[in-house]
Amino acid sequence: MSALSPESPVASKVFPSPNHGERKDGQRPSMLILHYTGMPDEGEALQWLCNPVSQVSAHYFVFGDGRVLQLVPEMRRAWHAGLSSWDGEADINSCSIGIEIANTGHPGGLPPYPDAQIESVAALAKDIVTRWRIPATRVLGHSDVAPGRKVDPGELFPWPRLHEAGVGHWVAPSAMSDGRFFSRGDQGMPIEALQAMLAMYGYEVKISGVFDEDTEKVVSAFQRHFRPERVDGVADASTIMTLRNLIATRPQTAA
Ligand SMILES: [Zn+2]
Repeated sequence: MSALSPESPVASKVFPSPNHGERKDGQRPSMLILHYTGMPDEGEALQWLCNPVSQVSAHYFVFGDGRVLQLVPEMRRAWHAGLSSWDGEADINSCSIGIEIANTGHPGGLPPYPDAQIESVAALAKDIVTRWRIPATRVLGHSDVAPGRKVDPGELFPWPRLHEAGVGHWVAPSAMSDGRFFSRGDQGMPIEALQAMLAMYGYEVKISGVFDEDTEKVVSAFQRHFRPERVDGVADASTIMTLRNLIATRPQTAA
């Protein structure tokens, strides 16, 4: 990224943020994290990400009308994920590229993402995962890497549309049914198996055999991304089957 030209052809221009540093251990981007801004005004959200006082940033910013700006060079460590974890890695900022999508989010009543905006997000994400060879299973929401602490980009984010564009891992969610379910307080082998599957997919969860508050948060995060019809932290049959199908269809990745 030079002062004038963005690294992605999808971005129209550079709007530099001072909020970035070195990636730890010379890491390269191997993950893509999507966010919503969660602020009422997109111009203010952009200014905040470029204000040294905020200590937050992202590599790219996508307006509601689909315009894209680059704020931080891709090789630099932007400050978007905070306290996060995935697949055993805790310094998500050092190994990821972050995209902030202007949307008022849950505080604003969770308005749908406009088509033009999603088209830009899909094109930008496709460009980034292609250039950096980022595996489909490492295109995630902030809520996936910070369950309980973060809920963006929210359960209305159209992950299937990104998948159609060749971005991210997705299977059609299993149908809701009245089968057996597990929830807070349950214990035993089925809980251990559930936690093991969530951890195998990449979620940070302790395999204790006890369905505790943390497990509930992780189940909610999983649902928000992969089974958004009901986000309640209850591991129902549809949730468990969807998780199983995702694990079974994980693309083989050449690291
Ligand atoms: Zn976020």
